[in-house]
Amino acid sequence: MKAVQIVQPGDLRIIDMEKPQLTEEHNVIVRMTAAGICGSDMGIYHGTNAAATYPRVIGHEIVGVVEEVGPTAKKVKVGDRVIIDQVTACGHCYACRKGRPNVCGDLHVRGVHIDGGYREYIDVADTDCYLLPDFLSDTDAVMIEPTTIAVQCCSRAQLESDDTVLIIGSGALGSSILRIVRLYHPQRIIVADIDDAKLDEALKNGATDVINSAREDLPARAHELTDGYGPTVTIDAACVKGSLLNALQATGNAGRVITMGFSVAPTEVNQFVITSKELDVRGSRLQNRKFQDVIDLVNAHKVDLTGSVSHTFPFTEAQKAFDFVDSRDPSIRKVVLTFGK
Ligand code: MN
Ligand code: ZN
Repeated sequence: MKAVQIVQPGDLRIIDMEKPQLTEEHNVIVRMTAAGICGSDMGIYHGTNAAATYPRVIGHEIVGVVEEVGPTAKKVKVGDRVIIDQVTACGHCYACRKGRPNVCGDLHVRGVHIDGGYREYIDVADTDCYLLPDFLSDTDAVMIEPTTIAVQCCSRAQLESDDTVLIIGSGALGSSILRIVRLYHPQRIIVADIDDAKLDEALKNGATDVINSAREDLPARAHELTDGYGPTVTIDAACVKGSLLNALQATGNAGRVITMGFSVAPTEVNQFVITSKELDVRGSRLQNRKFQDVIDLVNAHKVDLTGSVSHTFPFTEAQKAFDFVDSRDPSIRKVVLTFGK
């Protein structure tokens, strides 16, 4: 079978590899049909993802059809359309015992630490497969994965309806967070970005207020918009230099600050801003078994995943697809690789 491998940063190749066999009794073989290209996939391609190891078959937004099931695989059957959880964990370390396999001490993420789904077939545990809604196409279904990331950060924030929320950043991540935050009906949803067009879109998608942080003082404006208190939840979906300090300064007493960035660049913060307000600063990484939650929301028509995929490419043209994503063409939303039979 064929696969897309990043041999080393900057070197993408279509390789031949052996078709996987069932390695566990409860495993299944999934024939891939669609796989999204994520910012983190681009990071692995460009060598800017500190977690990745090479050579690597990437791809973690991965959808397909169950083609073969092991003797004890119960969750899915041949012919089922599924999306695959990218998190694989040891099951017995402290994080796993606390029900947080997404930060397992021996975490192996498909497409990052172990081979992912940019290939024709993959062998996975039946419990890592989630049934797709019938009415959702395979290409649209890749959007389930980015949506799980948004559900995870709201869960880490313990979001409730009496919160006021500040989302810093209105790119792909920030806008999928906005879609989920809305479902909690918080008092206010403030979105900050440096791009007016993105802020206009945020207003259309349910933000109550926007801040252009290139022109306005973000913490000061966030205080004004929340009667001087400050938002009670701030989610940093921009993850740029300075955004953490902005988030800490903006957030009101007893609030939560959620970080999502992977930057290792030092940034200066002070203890007073955390201690004086007794802030909870929490990371949100990947997702902790949130696929079924998102699929339930889609089935209940509370979340609409259609309309986000802007372009598709056959996976054998992955180089073209990656070059296109690099072009930053304004028409790009989600780009998806497709797999023929
Ligand atoms: Mn992703
Ligand atoms: Zn573990």
